[in-house]
Amino acid sequence: MSEKKQVYIVGGGAAGFFAAITCAEANPNLSVTILERGKSVLEKVRISGGGRCNLTHACFQPKPLTKFYPRGEKPLLGPFHQFQCQDTVDWFESRGVKTKVEPDGRMFPVTDRSQTVIDCLLGAAQKAGVRVLKSTRVTKISLANDDSEQWIITTPAKDYRADKLMLATGSNPKIWTLLKEIGHQTISPVPSLFTFNIKDERIKELAGLSVPNALVKVPGTKLVANGPLLITHWGLSGPGVLKLSAWGARLLNEKQYNFSLQVNWLGELNYSTAEQALRKIKEENRLRLVVKYPQFEIPRRLWQRLTTAAGIEEDRKWADLSKKQFNKLVTELTQGTYEVKGKSTFKDEFVTAGGVFLNEVDFKTFKSKNLPNLFFAGEVLNIDAVTGGFNFQAAWTGGWLAGRAMAEVNE
Ligand SMILES: Cc1cc2nc3c(=O)[nH]c(=O)nc-3n(C[C@H](O)[C@H](O)[C@H](O)COP(=O)(O)OP(=O)(O)OC[C@H]3O[C@@H](n4cnc5c(N)ncnc54)[C@H](O)[C@@H]3O)c2cc1C
Repeated sequence: MSEKKQVYIVGGGAAGFFAAITCAEANPNLSVTILERGKSVLEKVRISGGGRCNLTHACFQPKPLTKFYPRGEKPLLGPFHQFQCQDTVDWFESRGVKTKVEPDGRMFPVTDRSQTVIDCLLGAAQKAGVRVLKSTRVTKISLANDDSEQWIITTPAKDYRADKLMLATGSNPKIWTLLKEIGHQTISPVPSLFTFNIKDERIKELAGLSVPNALVKVPGTKLVANGPLLITHWGLSGPGVLKLSAWGARLLNEKQYNFSLQVNWLGELNYSTAEQALRKIKEENRLRLVVKYPQFEIPRRLWQRLTTAAGIEEDRKWADLSKKQFNKLVTELTQGTYEVKGKSTFKDEFVTAGGVFLNEVDFKTFKSKNLPNLFFAGEVLNIDAVTGGFNFQAAWTGGWLAGRAMAEVNE
């Protein structure tokens, strides 16, 4: 009997485990091994989603799903036709992990514990016969010095020889350097999903207040995003800001996180529609104090700050607003400019934009186009998404397709 073919997966995270399980289940004649540098595996799954693991999103059509990926939108369309959010739900449910959808579309295990997802992955890996070697840091990979097209994987303790090699190392810059040395281009890493530091009287000491639907843009660029905005101790956060940070990850890095941000607190209204709406409000509230009665869905204290910024005195009634004050109020509501000076980490989720150059990967199999028998999945690739479970979805999809492809080994 010939020796078992060897599949090695570097990285015991979401992508690595999904690939290993898929590969071992699809071809039990293979030996599948995960090499993990840490003392434990699936660490990011454990801390994800505030310990609840937002494992996917209730978006079940491939095309709309791709729109959540600032990097990877086009290449992921084909893969999502093979394995998308519904497949993730089915995969976990068929292994005993029931999931639930929250009102914003994020999906979690019903237990609200990431440990449920970890236990499922560990159990499935064990059942499929996947070997997991912890505390095993890969320091080098190189093609064997013969015509076998096998890979030599170097770790401090020993070398391993692989018929198929997959890198699922997340955002480890050392692996990108290694890849560059052996002939793969990588895009330099920059952070994505961060919040904006802003010191401004209009939002000072209002931490915790939010508006349900705002629009934020960076004037002079194409960057624009909508969604809820949250005022924090350091500035602005919330889905609108996080989206902008993801789409602008590279540009905002170039600006060293110093830029002007235009905030439309009214979201769907622009300057002229807001002006019309305010005229109506003015007519209907002529004898009321402007500062006292917040309009639209703006919280009371924020409304007071915006009216103050518009130069409206506390005892000013709607009927007595000057044209200048009225116009300035419309501007403050729809086009207020805030100076961003730096960024902060978003507590629930952050990812790295950058990684393996996507043109060099075949997205039918997540296989390298440049080097033989080499596969990638997860954050090692230049793919990342906004918050909501999409980053894990990319890891599951890539892991599944790469796992299936690696299972097709000629005996
Ligand atoms: C705090 C936080 C919360 C998050 N929450 C969510 C969420 O709720 N939903 C969501 O979709 N996304 C979330 N994300 C993003 C998500 O965790 C990542 O996109 C995802 O984990 C990427 O999976 P991966 O397998 O590619 O990489 P990783 O999970 O980073 O796994 C890579 C593994 O490779 C190992 N490794 C690296 N280099 C080597 C080496 N040289 N040798 C051996 N092993 C190596 C690492 O130790 C690690 O275990 C969150 C991220 C953070 C930081």
